Amino acid sequence: MNESKADILIIGAGPSGCVAAAYLQNQGLKIKVVEKSKFPRFVIGESLLPRCMDHFEEVGLLDSLNKMDFEIKRGARFLKNGVVCNFDFSKKHTPGWDWTWQVPRADFDNVLANTLIEKGVDITFEEEVVDVSFDPEGNSKTTLKDKNGNLSVLNASFIIDSSGYGRVLPRLLGLDKPSELPKHASIFTHVKEPNRPEGTEGTLITFDVVTDDVWLWVIPFSNGVTSIGFVGPIELIESYSGTTTEKLKDMLKMSHYYYDRLKDLDFLFPPVEIKNYSKSVTRLYGKGYALTGNSAEFLDPVFSSGVTFATESALKAAKLITRQVNNEAVDWEKEYSEYMREGVDVFATYVKEWYTGNLQKIFFHRPENPEIKKQICAVLAGYVWDKSNPFVKNHNRLVKTLANVIDIETTKQQPKS
Ligand code: FAD
Repeated sequence: MNESKADILIIGAGPSGCVAAAYLQNQGLKIKVVEKSKFPRFVIGESLLPRCMDHFEEVGLLDSLNKMDFEIKRGARFLKNGVVCNFDFSKKHTPGWDWTWQVPRADFDNVLANTLIEKGVDITFEEEVVDVSFDPEGNSKTTLKDKNGNLSVLNASFIIDSSGYGRVLPRLLGLDKPSELPKHASIFTHVKEPNRPEGTEGTLITFDVVTDDVWLWVIPFSNGVTSIGFVGPIELIESYSGTTTEKLKDMLKMSHYYYDRLKDLDFLFPPVEIKNYSKSVTRLYGKGYALTGNSAEFLDPVFSSGVTFATESALKAAKLITRQVNNEAVDWEKEYSEYMREGVDVFATYVKEWYTGNLQKIFFHRPENPEIKKQICAVLAGYVWDKSNPFVKNHNRLVKTLANVIDIETTKQQPKS
């Protein structure tokens, strides 16, 4: 069997793997990226958050992305029962990027991977990791299988697992842990909307909240295609029958706002249904490896945090590995695990409180409080490590407390019978 060697093996060339690879390549390390699919390939996760722009910029991937003319996303819009809640990223508590993109991921990820190739990164496509073993020092032997079924071995002193839903190391090392979030499902596709409204409405991501725990995303791209998808409890999505096309057509009737606009459009591919996508792990690192992106944790699509966590964790892990290679002491528990958990916990609170209905009470309560809105907007932009933001620092109690206050106010305002 062929044997080769690299300093660092990166599993997967999604945003997480590409950001890690770009950083490590810039540090002059010998890396190898192994990607199971042939690019371009479809993947869901099309609406980004401003925070991830920091990561692409820092590792030198922003210039190639800028050339692509992706749809600019300047905020997020939530609709419920005729009330509109608009978040504008330029009006947020934390300084930082006030825009990002909405992207067809096949094109986006392809640009990232091609830029790495131009930088000289060694990437193999259509090759997958099938087995990994570690010695007590953390040195690894990884078995790779190419598209013709040929096996080879790669020796590396560190592995970054950025395999997304492939979850290579969590599977092989038994690290999976059930997520604490409610079990949800999603059904989605793309459409071409000939009469998409111009201006803000046509370009923002919209969350059309059709009931407390069911919502429809509408994400327009610059190429005229719009991504649409429902998220809701698994039982609800399973209660619709027929093909996925029939199901999604039927579900569109729940959206008073979009039904007329979307009902007659052809789906560009048969809708994809994904169940139970929230994932967690018992640990984010071990001797000789770190988990990044979806391979580590995925919460819920509701605030579009997936890609941002994928790039945040990748950049953090890549920086720590570089220090380790340079014989500096690294406290992985504190500097990686605790750091990532802090951000994930903030978003997890928002996801949980979205589905309890507390956050929706705040979003749709009128009149709006501009200061509170700025603070929540910074969270929705992905700036979840900024402790000067009370909605980050006290995320555990502030959303609940504010929702209680709104409840009390609403009760007081109700006419006594
Ligand atoms: P991926 O992008 O999945 O990349 C992993 C790569 O690893 C893949 O290319 C795969 O082929 C490769 N791989 C897998 N197994 C192996 C193997 N054995 N060997 C080699 N390579 C392998 N996120 C957002 O930011 N915004 C959104 O709007 C959003 N919407 C979502 C909607 C839904 C319904 C769901 C389920 C998720 C959504 N997400 C969203 C999350 C988003 O999809 C992920 O968080 C993001 O793609 C993670 O990036 P990644 O680089 O970790 O993994």
